[in-house]
Amino acid sequence: MSLATEHDIVSVPKVELHIHLNGSITEATASTLARRHGADPEQALHLVNGRYPGSYPNFQGFLDAYLLANGFVRTPEDLEFVAAEFARGQAAQNIVYSEAIFTAMIYVRNGLEPAAMWRALRTGLAAGGPNTRIGLVVDAIRDLGSAEAEATIDLVEHADAPIVGLCLTGVESTEPIENFRVLREASTRLGLGFEVHAGEMGPPESVTEALDVLGADRIGHGVASVYDPELLARVIREQVPLDVCPSSNVAISLFTALEAHPVARFWREGVNMTISSDDPPFFHTTLTDELRHVVQLAGLSREDLATLQRRAVGVSFAKPSTQAEVLAEINRWAANG
Ligand SMILES: [Zn+2]
Repeated sequence: MSLATEHDIVSVPKVELHIHLNGSITEATASTLARRHGADPEQALHLVNGRYPGSYPNFQGFLDAYLLANGFVRTPEDLEFVAAEFARGQAAQNIVYSEAIFTAMIYVRNGLEPAAMWRALRTGLAAGGPNTRIGLVVDAIRDLGSAEAEATIDLVEHADAPIVGLCLTGVESTEPIENFRVLREASTRLGLGFEVHAGEMGPPESVTEALDVLGADRIGHGVASVYDPELLARVIREQVPLDVCPSSNVAISLFTALEAHPVARFWREGVNMTISSDDPPFFHTTLTDELRHVVQLAGLSREDLATLQRRAVGVSFAKPSTQAEVLAEINRWAANG
C-alpha cells in the first residue's frame, strides 16, 4: 500500500485531542502581548532568533518558556486574542474538531475575573468559524495539589463555556494520586470526560494508577507503557485511548529522536492511539507536522490517515451529534480518493 501523500496529509479533516490552549501561544502572539504590556519580546520571552527554543533538556526547560508567554495574558482582551489566534491556527490546518486543554487557574492568578475569562474564550474561539469545532478540557496541575483541583472544579461548575472534559496535568508523582479522585467524581457528576497525563515523564505504574485509581477515560501520552510488556498488552487488550504527541516527547528529551519514539510500534501492535501536537509552537511543530512524521515513521496510507482521525472522533469527549458531523466529513474525504 502506498504512503499517504502530502496532499492527503494537508487535506484530511483532522481531529486533535491533546493541544494545550496555554501552550499554543505562538511567538508572534506572545510578542504582541509582551509589547502591549511594555516589555521587549526577545528579552522577556527568551526568544532565540525570534522563536522559542524548540527543544529542552527536560520538562522544566519547556515550562520556563511556557510560563514567560502565559505571564503576558493579563486581561480578557489578551485571552480573547490568544483564543482567536489559536482557533485560526486550527482552522488553517483543517482541524475540524479540537479538544483544547485549558489551565484556567493560571489566568485567574494573573488577575482575570472568571466570568470575563470564559466570555473572552467564547468570543475568541469563534474566530475559527463554524467548521472549527473546539471543546475545552479544563485541567488542574498535579504539582499544585488537591486544593488546585478543587478550585478548578469550582471554576468549571460556574463556567459559561463549551467544556467537554476535565484533565490532570503536571509532573507525575509530585502528589499522591488519590488526592485527585475529586476530578473523576466531578467529571462523572458534570457529565464530562476525564483525561489524565500519565506515563509521560513518569514510569509505567503511573498509567496503571491513572486507570485503576482515577478511572481515566483517556491517557495523555502513556508512552512509558512501552517499558512494561504487561502494561502494553493491557493497553492493547482494553483499547485504552492514548493521546500520543511524538515531537513533544522528543523536544523535552524523553526520546533521543523521532525514530526512537514508540509511535510506529504502537501503530503496528494495535494501540488505540490518536496523534496530537501538545504545545506546538514551543516544540516547533503543528498537528500537520506530527501527521507527516507518523506517516513516515509508521508507513501510513491515505486510508490509515482516515482511520486515525475516525478513531480520534470515537474517543473524543464531543457529544454524539458533533461526533456524527465530524465523522461524516472524514468519510466524505475518504470516499473522494
Ligand atoms: Zn499535554
